[in-house]
Amino acid sequence: MDDNTQRSDAEVAVIGGGPVGLVSAIALAAAGVGTLLIAPKAEPDHRTTALLAGSVTALETLGVWQACLPYAAPLRKIRLVDDTQRLVRAPEISFVASEIGLDAFGFNIENRHLIAALEAGAGDLRLARVVDAARSIKPDATGVTIKLTDGEVRVRLAIGADGARSLCRTAARIGAQRLTYPQTALTLNLAHARSHDDTSTEFHTASGPFTLVPLPGRRSSLVCVLAPAMARKLAETTEPGLAEDIERRAHSLLGRISIEPGRGLFPLGVETADTFARERIALVGEAAHVVPPIGAQGLNLGLRDAAVIAELVADARRQKCDVGAPDVLARYDMQRRADVASRTVAVDLLNRSLLTDFIPAQSARGLALYLADRIGPLRRALMREGVQPAAQPRLMRGEMV
Ligand SMILES: Cc1cc2nc3c(=O)[nH]c(=O)nc-3n(C[C@H](O)[C@H](O)[C@H](O)COP(=O)(O)OP(=O)(O)OC[C@H]3O[C@@H](n4cnc5c(N)ncnc54)[C@H](O)[C@@H]3O)c2cc1C
Repeated sequence: MDDNTQRSDAEVAVIGGGPVGLVSAIALAAAGVGTLLIAPKAEPDHRTTALLAGSVTALETLGVWQACLPYAAPLRKIRLVDDTQRLVRAPEISFVASEIGLDAFGFNIENRHLIAALEAGAGDLRLARVVDAARSIKPDATGVTIKLTDGEVRVRLAIGADGARSLCRTAARIGAQRLTYPQTALTLNLAHARSHDDTSTEFHTASGPFTLVPLPGRRSSLVCVLAPAMARKLAETTEPGLAEDIERRAHSLLGRISIEPGRGLFPLGVETADTFARERIALVGEAAHVVPPIGAQGLNLGLRDAAVIAELVADARRQKCDVGAPDVLARYDMQRRADVASRTVAVDLLNRSLLTDFIPAQSARGLALYLADRIGPLRRALMREGVQPAAQPRLMRGEMV
């Protein structure tokens, strides 16, 4: 919506209409904060996202989960299988949601359906929107000026939800720590003969995880992490060769498979911004942190960013304070840092322990999984922390911001 009145009323601009930007904008608008979403139309995305329980609660609270539900498959069991063929191998371990009193750890959904539900939610709220990319972003002491193709807007706070190559991050002069892995993820969706039984299976191979995640019906999504040249070769393989190769890697767990149209290649790495907020710009989602697609952490972290910034901004506004003031931004950075850092380190360690030929590191991974398998309280603590971290923002607890 290009409504100049709504544009000039906005206190906050959310830049970027990926899932994290849409959730940020919806949460703010639902809390009565004048919000402008600046987002070009979403690119086609064949990936899927495993949304963990807290994220599902947040979407329910915002009233968008009903529209997701027909396209989402529950994840009731997660199996980790050591497929490294190495001398030191970890035992197979299964995590079952009912063990921690949950019906499911979460739900897997194709990103295109998630985005469509969020776009519809934003439409229901009559959220002010400019369907365009921000051309330049300039923060100063009292506000942020955002240049668009057809003019400019001025707000008190800009929320940078503009992905890994964030213009907002550059505008706030925030650096980032980057690490590139010698791995690329091949993504695709597939149909299969056998039921997945609501179970996600992660084969840990020497090149990285090969993860099958349920979709509704006899369908699953695949994230297959390989050396870059191998991933490209596999992505270019025509049928029936690709289906046969994937079936072999899956040890025929799901029977005969057929590959659906749409394959993606994603080079893997970790990236963390030096601070998550500065100069009236707060970074959320991949603008703030990129983690490899292992253990379904990336978007779940991003949705917690969205929930926290929305909560802090709504509180500042209720107290009639400046929503882009340094103390609001400092609180945001402080509240997000430990969650992001701990998950980034955990995913990095797990990934490195697969890639390394260093036997003590392989043994440590094997021992950690053995202990998690054998010691019930440890396994349940790991599951709870993975799905519902101790300190959850309001949206993840089912309360509006
Ligand atoms: C293979 C793979 C599998 C994954 N699986 C999972 C999973 O199962 N669970 C999970 O939690 N996470 C998963 N992730 C991570 C998840 O996909 C990301 O965390 C998530 O997509 C990030 O969302 P975002 O909204 O921050 O960024 P994006 O989705 O990148 O959105 C950024 C948006 O900003 C827009 N933009 C850019 N520049 C501008 C500008 N100047 N002005 C306005 N708009 C702009 C872009 O057009 C884009 O729409 C996976 C990632 C990969 C690669």
